Amino acid sequence: MNFELSEEQQQVKMSVREFAEGEIAPHVREWDETQHFPVELLPKLAELGLMGIIFPEQYGGAGMGYIEYATIIEELSRVDGSVGISVAAHNSLCSNHIYMFGTEEQKQKYLVPLARGEQLGAWGLTEANAGSDASGTRSTAVKKDGGWMVNGSKNFITHAIHGDTCVAVAVTDRSMRTKGITAFIFEKGMKGFSPAKKEDKLGLRASETASVVFEDCFVPDENRLGEAGLGFIQAMQILDGGRISIAALAVGIAQGAYESALKYSKERQQFGKPISEFQAIQFKLADMATEIEAARLLMYRAAFLKDQGKKVTKESAMAKVYASEVSVRVSEEAIQIHGGYGYTKDYPAEKYWRDSKLCTIGEGTSEIQRMVIARQLLS
Ligand SMILES: Cc1cc2nc3c(=O)[nH]c(=O)nc-3n(C[C@H](O)[C@H](O)[C@H](O)COP(=O)(O)OP(=O)(O)OC[C@H]3O[C@@H](n4cnc5c(N)ncnc54)[C@H](O)[C@@H]3O)c2cc1C
Repeated sequence: MNFELSEEQQQVKMSVREFAEGEIAPHVREWDETQHFPVELLPKLAELGLMGIIFPEQYGGAGMGYIEYATIIEELSRVDGSVGISVAAHNSLCSNHIYMFGTEEQKQKYLVPLARGEQLGAWGLTEANAGSDASGTRSTAVKKDGGWMVNGSKNFITHAIHGDTCVAVAVTDRSMRTKGITAFIFEKGMKGFSPAKKEDKLGLRASETASVVFEDCFVPDENRLGEAGLGFIQAMQILDGGRISIAALAVGIAQGAYESALKYSKERQQFGKPISEFQAIQFKLADMATEIEAARLLMYRAAFLKDQGKKVTKESAMAKVYASEVSVRVSEEAIQIHGGYGYTKDYPAEKYWRDSKLCTIGEGTSEIQRMVIARQLLS
């Protein structure tokens, strides 16, 4: 066992940290206030290879593994969770669905520009009546000559408006239930495919979350991802990897919140000394640091196993549920350590807390993660 990042991995970590502190940190407050989705950042992320982290170079990717991927998402999220979730959704949901289940032609046509960061990806599983129960998908795709006619809508889709390529699932045979759902690739501008309501969110406000609508949208058969009927099963496999990135998002947010609290505790004086000299504050910091470290180890273990080609359903759900709940606890304690100032927008603690909450919801809620883990334990 080796608990250290390799020299190369450490370099990746430091270069992303430098980038996040230089290019993202100065804008975080403004983007959050205005809900600005920073499209102007995408070419810079692409230049660093962050839009194709986990894909081989032959498909325009950076050829890295999940250890590097988790490290990168953690470092981005330490500064701004919105950028972290954006890079995560682009990589592990949309692009990875095409990488894992697409034909060679689909990979050349869609994955290459996605991985190079020339295009932005979105992924649509969730619907108004199909959240935790994704098998409740109502959108339909009816077979026509040469393709499928799609009707329905998807909710809470990251990059629904700016996304160029969207992988989404629809029911192709309702009688087959979860084996009657199929994945398709949609392109921005396709007739009958359009973005709808943008959400006004509690946190991660600089990441774009909106609905998409399909109204008699014809999608050619060559845009079907894998065999008809396998879309739900594919989506569950995609989420196994995606949850590692949500664990990384959570660890990064927690780390940022902890560092801000640590710094503040040394600066703030009460009763004639820095509050960091009070044992009550020290114990908070000790618990925060310990829980972050435990969450990070779960994250890296799931990432390591994924890089070994192992099934990570249980491990990624464990990392996700634990890290996301740590993130909420740690960022709440960060506010407490800041006292009244933590409750204001003059300090970053309140934003870390708002951002952290998504981690217990997106890509499966904490309740669903516990169901996934229990199912694996009992099977
Ligand atoms: C910012 C953001 C970005 C997102 N990005 C995407 C995206 O890019 N693509 C996409 O497809 N989706 C996306 N989502 C959707 C997200 O994955 C869903 O919100 C999530 O899966 C929960 O679904 P829901 O919101 O419908 O909640 P519900 O399923 O309605 O859950 C409500 C509550 O009931 C609980 N619950 C439900 N079923 C059970 C059960 N069987 N046992 C116990 N408790 C249960 C849940 O845990 C939760 O507490 C995003 C969401 C957000 C907020």
